[in-house]
Amino acid sequence: MLMNENEIKLLNKGELHVHLNGLVSTDVVRELLEENKSDLPSGFDLERDLNILQPTDSLASYLKPWQVLRLVPRSRACLGLIVESAFLNLKSQNVRFVEIRNSVIYLALLNNISVDRALSWLVSEIELACEKHKIIAGLILTVSRGDCAPEHLRSLLSAYENLGRPSTVVGLDLAGNENIESPIETGSLFLHAKDKYELKVTIHAGETGRVENITSAVYEFGADRIGHGTAASKSVEVMDLLKHRDICVEVCPISNKLTSAVNESQPHPVVDFIANEVPFVICSDNPSIHLSDLTKDYIEFYRETRSSQHLRDMYSHQKKYSFIKGLHGN
Ligand SMILES: [Zn+2]
Repeated sequence: MLMNENEIKLLNKGELHVHLNGLVSTDVVRELLEENKSDLPSGFDLERDLNILQPTDSLASYLKPWQVLRLVPRSRACLGLIVESAFLNLKSQNVRFVEIRNSVIYLALLNNISVDRALSWLVSEIELACEKHKIIAGLILTVSRGDCAPEHLRSLLSAYENLGRPSTVVGLDLAGNENIESPIETGSLFLHAKDKYELKVTIHAGETGRVENITSAVYEFGADRIGHGTAASKSVEVMDLLKHRDICVEVCPISNKLTSAVNESQPHPVVDFIANEVPFVICSDNPSIHLSDLTKDYIEFYRETRSSQHLRDMYSHQKKYSFIKGLHGN
């Protein structure tokens, strides 16, 4: 049966791959940045450069807004405004539960506070917003690929431990430039954290064509889910691996086009995931940067696949693969 945009918007949704800084509305970011305009990188245009609306030539160009997204918030009150804006956006999409990603370390540096304090600010603001908007939320701690990955992961885990392992924190994520190697111990630190704290793991992998990053995410990092994973469709073995281990791919259709992970003229690899029974969920990644929303990602998926059944089943898939415990009945 055909579905229209309004029906899609009204579907109950879960969101399993969204970055806090990409979910806060651009207007809020712009207002917060206006207060400290002198810190902006030279040539950065607040009207033009906070959004990505056309496919970029590389992931690095896609990440341009992050040059300034890491300059806010400069106080707990401003963090509160950011989280509030993010939750309003989720509410407008009928999102019932969400896993929000954030790397927390920049929050500590920017506000000259400890990582423990930064994590406690973020957890508290998310918990307040959950209560207010009646949306269930978990926090995923993101670590960037590269030399500092082990150090950052250690300090995030130590903050998590010092705060008494808050139940709002549900998982760990590795993100950033996939061509950059991280120190060899990074994978074993993820595995250790999984084992010790029962945190779940998702890894941004195979977004820029490197299928080997998906296998390493599974074997070396213990990935429970894969972010993007578009390169998986290049390998029947990797699609089999994901299927047989029941590892869910977080498919972000609009983001994939804007980063050029998927060429505009090519079918989206989710078509191969469906054909090969690779589990997947639809997510929005950075909707406000795209001046978009989760409904538009559903519509883009629908345009590619014409499958309304997948859209109707999506909420139960999102619950099944969520890192948040006890979602059944929601
Ligand atoms: Zn992402």
